[in-house]
Amino acid sequence: MVDVRLSGVRKEYDGVTALEEISIHVANGEFFTLVGPSGCGKTTTLRAIAGFEEPTAGTVQFGNREMTGVPPENRDVGIVFQNYALFPHMTVAENVGYGLRFRDPPGAMTRDERIQSLLELVDLADFGNRKPDELSGGQQQRVALARALAPGPDVLLLDEPMSALDARLRDDLRTQVSRIQSDLGITTIYVTHDQEEALAISDRVAVMHDGRVEQIGRPEDVYRRPDSRFVAEFVGENNVFSGDTVAHETGGSLVAVDDHEFRIAGATDDRVTFCIRPEALRLDGGENSFSATVETVEFLGEAFRVHLDWDGRRVMLRVSEAPESETVRVGFDPEDAHIIDGGTTELIEQR
Ligand code: ATP
Repeated sequence: MVDVRLSGVRKEYDGVTALEEISIHVANGEFFTLVGPSGCGKTTTLRAIAGFEEPTAGTVQFGNREMTGVPPENRDVGIVFQNYALFPHMTVAENVGYGLRFRDPPGAMTRDERIQSLLELVDLADFGNRKPDELSGGQQQRVALARALAPGPDVLLLDEPMSALDARLRDDLRTQVSRIQSDLGITTIYVTHDQEEALAISDRVAVMHDGRVEQIGRPEDVYRRPDSRFVAEFVGENNVFSGDTVAHETGGSLVAVDDHEFRIAGATDDRVTFCIRPEALRLDGGENSFSATVETVEFLGEAFRVHLDWDGRRVMLRVSEAPESETVRVGFDPEDAHIIDGGTTELIEQR
């Protein structure tokens, strides 16, 4: 097992900059996820780690080993892609065995023992003689995972492995991948555009945007303390406002969003951008309250998501009971606003 370090990795294709300058350190045994919208550079980053792309500048290191010029088959990486890429004419066991074409099974195992132990690991012990088309999508992806793990790689790379599956299968596979990764303790780098999946499965995430890393952190830190407006709006749902600080008072500064003043704890600068999660907005008013019109109400099972119009601004609210009137008064505590720009909410949130 190794740690993986990307230092100033840049990638250009004929004048198109796919990666600006990516620096990431993935710890040994960590489950690390690259998450971001389509085209932000996730796959290019993964391909640079795998050795399918040479960076235009910067370096990739596995442990102390510099990877420049090392071909993919010599990097000790296991890779799982979105489209299972199983061989249809081979059985499940033969597909897993294909993962051993470059090297012998690790430890003292025979080839057949290794294949069987991997099939057990991915809960397919009795499926060795089946052909891929006799399996569900989730089972096929588990075969692909077993094949990637067969040679005992140092690093596991997963590129949107669940995106072709329906929601229920995705949930099941997510749980299994998580269990297998923590059982094996293998350094894992996972790519997804699905922020919910990223938060659920990872030790840490890197949120990417336009070929850059916007923020790296534990899921709960990135969710609670986004560093930028992009992260605030991409990771989960959020309400982001900008305003001018009109007074500094104990208990929070007064910030005017157009003609409406809010008390915001931790605002220091003249211009402040802050966000409030939909679940932090309440329907019982309070100090920082405003009137808004209910546009739509969606039932999500455990809660209602309410879209509001506040003087032409869209505001999202998450509550356990649907509002009964068309006009509502919503509010939030000064401490529940997270400042993105123009102050700090760090100390308050650590209380
Ligand atoms: P998706 O989720 O859609 O796969 P991504 O975040 O993985 O997106 P990349 O595939 O890494 O994004 O692409 C990053 C940028 O680099 C995009 O603008 C893409 O068009 C560009 N790009 C990727 N590969 C090439 C290539 N071979 N030639 C030219 N441009 C490329």
